[in-house]
Amino acid sequence: MTTTTDLPLLFLGQGADPASELGVQCPGELPPASDPDLVARAAAAKAALGDRVFVLGHHYQRDEVIQFADVTGDSFKLARDAAARPEAPYIVFCGVHFMAESADILTGDDQRVILPDLAAGCSMADMATFDQVEECWDVLTDLGIADRVVPVTYMNSSADIKAFVGRRDGVVCTSSNAERALGWAFERGEQVLFLPDQHLGRNTAVLEMGLSLEDCVVYNPHRPNGGLTDEQLRGAKMILWKGHCSVHGRFSKASVDEVRERVPGVNVLVHPECRHEVVTAADLVGSTEYIIKALDAAEPGSSWAIGTELNLVKRLAAAHPDKNVMFLDKTVCFCSTMNRIDLPHLVWTLEALVRGEVPNQITVDPETARHAKAALDRMLALP
Ligand code: SF4
Repeated sequence: MTTTTDLPLLFLGQGADPASELGVQCPGELPPASDPDLVARAAAAKAALGDRVFVLGHHYQRDEVIQFADVTGDSFKLARDAAARPEAPYIVFCGVHFMAESADILTGDDQRVILPDLAAGCSMADMATFDQVEECWDVLTDLGIADRVVPVTYMNSSADIKAFVGRRDGVVCTSSNAERALGWAFERGEQVLFLPDQHLGRNTAVLEMGLSLEDCVVYNPHRPNGGLTDEQLRGAKMILWKGHCSVHGRFSKASVDEVRERVPGVNVLVHPECRHEVVTAADLVGSTEYIIKALDAAEPGSSWAIGTELNLVKRLAAAHPDKNVMFLDKTVCFCSTMNRIDLPHLVWTLEALVRGEVPNQITVDPETARHAKAALDRMLALP
C-alpha cells in the first residue's frame, strides 16, 4: 500500500524543510561526488585560503573530509581549538549543527563559523526543543520543586538549550566531565534535570555517582507531566530527558555477548551514550578521546570491540594494525547526519570562500550566546 506524505524528499544539501531540519541550502552548483578532481580542488582551495581558513574535523567524519582537517577532536575540543585560532576569519566546522553553534559562541565576533551542509544536524540534540524544556520547567515550577532542581545539559544540545540552562544557573557537560558536572550540580541542588541524553545521565549517575536506577526517572516531553506522577518527579534525584543518540543507542547487550563468544579475551570498550545494559556489560567505558587513548596504550596483539561511530572505529583499526580492532555491532552504524558532510560539500564551501562568499554561516544571537556561554564557562571552571 502506498501512502502520501507532505514531507518533501530532500536531495543532499539542496532544498529546504525548516519544519524538519535546520534549513538545507547549497545555492549554486554542488560538485558531483564522481568528480575525479575533488581532492585536487579541495587542496587547491585550501592552499589559496592559507591561514584564513581553519578546518575542524570531528572524529566521526568521513576519511575523505578528515584528510583536509587542520585538527580533529570531539565537539568540545574542536570548539576550544577554534577559539585558540583568533587570526583565522573562517572556521569550517566538519561536524554537526550544535557543534558549529558552540564554536560560534566561543570564537571572536569577527570569525565566521561555517557548516558545509546545513542538513548536518544531530537527532539527539533535536530531541530537546526549547519549548519542550520550558514546558518541563513549568511542570517542575507548578510542583514547587524547580528551586531545588539544577539543570545540566550535555554538549550535544542546541544553543537554545544551553542558554536555558545558563539562565537557570546550570552547567554544560561533556562525556569526559559528566561526573564532575553532576557533583557540582548536587552541591547546589537536590535534584538534577539532565538534558538531552538519558543514557549519559543514567550511566554517570549510577556508575560514577553511586545513585541507583530507582533514583532516576525518565521525562517524556510528548506526554503530560512527562509521563510521570508528581511523586515520581518529587522523589527522583535524576530527572532524565527522554533523548538518546541514534548511533550509540543501536548497540545491545546481545552484541557484547556475541563478540565475547566469538573473540576470546576481547576487550569491550563503549561510549557512555550507549544503553545502561551495554555499558555494564562492557569492560571499559569512555568518551571518544578516552577510546582513542585506550587504543594507543593497548598491548600489541590485543583484541578490541569498540562501541562508537563506525568512521572512528575504522580509522582506529587502520591506525593500529598490530591490534585486532573491530566494530561492536554486526550492522553498519554510521552517524547519518555527520556523513552529510562529504567531499563535494567541503569543496563547495572552500571554493565559495576563495571567491569571497561565506556560505552556510552559523550564528547564535548575542542574548542566547551570552547565557549559553555562562553555562559553558561554569563547565570550564569545574574542579
Ligand atoms: S553520533 Fe549521535 S550524538 Fe553524535 S551527532 Fe550523531 S546522532 Fe548526534
